[in-house]
Amino acid sequence: MPHYDPSNIFAKILRGELPAHRIYEDGRALAFMDIMPRAPGHALVIPKAPARNILDIETDDLAYVVQVAQRIARAQMKVFAADGITVQQFNETAGGQVVFHLHMHIIPRHEGVALKPPQSDMEKPEILAEHAERLRAALAG
Ligand code: 5GP
Repeated sequence: MPHYDPSNIFAKILRGELPAHRIYEDGRALAFMDIMPRAPGHALVIPKAPARNILDIETDDLAYVVQVAQRIARAQMKVFAADGITVQQFNETAGGQVVFHLHMHIIPRHEGVALKPPQSDMEKPEILAEHAERLRAALAG
């Protein structure tokens, strides 16, 4: 497996070199809105540790990402009046991974509504900002 490459997009977001609509951040993880959501409210959770995917991440870091993902999922259920949540996580190109910094997709779902294809439409920044704001408020409350 190739080594972690710190020039990936999510590493740039972590370093503040690229913008993101941030939902939650602490010393070990960051949650932010996916720029091409497969459903409204689609969020990503990443570790701060430099891990490519589930194959190289330290177990503790992976467990922490899952903890944050659970909190985001619970907030999404309220904010988007969701009927369910889809969690996805891809590993290496053959596994569907495009960005090589480990991330979990947390996607609010509604009965009978199919997911959009991956990376189909770029969402408007004002919509992503509003969704992030509502999720931050739900996490705080
Ligand atoms: P994956 O690697 O899991 O297949 O997909 C990468 C995900 O990152 C996609 O859902 C895509 O929409 C998202 N993505 C790609 N570039 C950016 C970006 O610059 N900012 C944000 N917030 N998401 C991105």
